[in-house]
Amino acid sequence: MDFAFELSEDQRALRQTLREFAEAEIAPHAAEWDRTGTFPAQTVRKLGELGVMGLAFPEQYGGLGAGALSFAVALEELARVDSSVAITVAASVSLGGVPILQFGSEAQKQKWLVPLARGETIGAFASTEPGMGSDVQGLSTTAREDGAGWVINGTKAYITNAGTELSSFVTTTAITGERSPGRPEVSTLIVPVDAPGFEPQKPYAKMGWHASDTRELVYADCRVPAEAMLRERGAGARIFLATLDVGRIGVAAMGVGLAQGCLDHSVAWANQRCAFGQPIAKYQAVSFELAELKARIDAARGMVFRAAALKDAGKPVTEAAAAAKLMASELAVHAANVAMQVHGGYGYMEESAIPRFYRDAKILTIGEGTSEILKLVIARQMGLSV
Ligand SMILES: Cc1cc2nc3c(=O)[nH]c(=O)nc-3n(C[C@H](O)[C@H](O)[C@H](O)COP(=O)(O)OP(=O)(O)OC[C@H]3O[C@@H](n4cnc5c(N)ncnc54)[C@H](O)[C@@H]3O)c2cc1C
Repeated sequence: MDFAFELSEDQRALRQTLREFAEAEIAPHAAEWDRTGTFPAQTVRKLGELGVMGLAFPEQYGGLGAGALSFAVALEELARVDSSVAITVAASVSLGGVPILQFGSEAQKQKWLVPLARGETIGAFASTEPGMGSDVQGLSTTAREDGAGWVINGTKAYITNAGTELSSFVTTTAITGERSPGRPEVSTLIVPVDAPGFEPQKPYAKMGWHASDTRELVYADCRVPAEAMLRERGAGARIFLATLDVGRIGVAAMGVGLAQGCLDHSVAWANQRCAFGQPIAKYQAVSFELAELKARIDAARGMVFRAAALKDAGKPVTEAAAAAKLMASELAVHAANVAMQVHGGYGYMEESAIPRFYRDAKILTIGEGTSEILKLVIARQMGLSV
């Protein structure tokens, strides 16, 4: 590693505060929210009061100015206990807020970012469509200019945070013309959830992240004013890539947190569960597996912190963020598998937290860049002509 960092005293205190909050306010309810698909609005509001939604944003926009590394620490602690809460926070900040911070006008920041940073509202980012996810050039949603603004038509798929009582806007990618023959001009528009013609559908039935809000969004002659355009016409692909760079650090932090949660449950269980006359931790097949998991979590955490520290230093993060997400998300899937094996039959019971971790882990290797797309990103950064 060529970039040194150390958590500050404030960041260590933040970790402690978030650990206590997650254990007291989330852990007792996570199973129930998961079973019933309940969106934890009250908890998100409390996280707002704690300042978590504004950690990454400057004070002039309602934030705490603490930066990406502090935000990664917070997300890790939330995902250690519950991934649905963590992704709600991660998506609002990284997908909803960050594009407005990086590309928005002063008026857009005041209108949309300030309430989000204060935790009064949450934001969403809609790129994926039923026919397109990884390849943003395959968009089919359109936005056409009319005298009074923009008229959007199309459907977005699998969008997080767009249909809750806290949802305020959905930053939406759309084709606004042709850049050159056969090449679409992609733009990004801020769509308020009360815009005419904006129609969030009912929540999907998902494998995991049950308490996180995920919907299809229909834009049926959806009208937004001219000032809804983020940055300028044709900036959509650039905004998409920059947003994902930051979002991937957050998802990677969630992977580390989920893996740490699996490890903590497994260590407690291995010391307590007896087989053949002794705790199963006495068997090296169990304890070595957990020791190796600990080492891999430490390595992934180092990658996440490095990517976040690079971001805070204003340095390029594309490769570091992709690598951190690749390693941490695949590790999360492995950790959930290890935890289930160590817990034996009990790990298969919904009464334990392990099935929830197991179901929540896999999406981390898919959302905000699949593992394959991340390898493409890294390969290109290496100069490979893929
Ligand atoms: C719960 C959930 C929440 C989500 N939230 C959001 C959100 O808030 N906003 C949003 O815009 N999207 C969201 N998504 C969508 C998510 O980002 C996409 O599902 C993801 O980017 C993958 O796109 P896809 O599903 O279209 O898969 P595809 O792009 O169709 O990929 C399918 C498979 O093909 C592989 N593949 C594709 N292209 C290549 C290639 N060039 N080389 C090698 N392999 C390739 C992929 O790696 C994958 O394995 C969410 C998805 C889920 C499940």
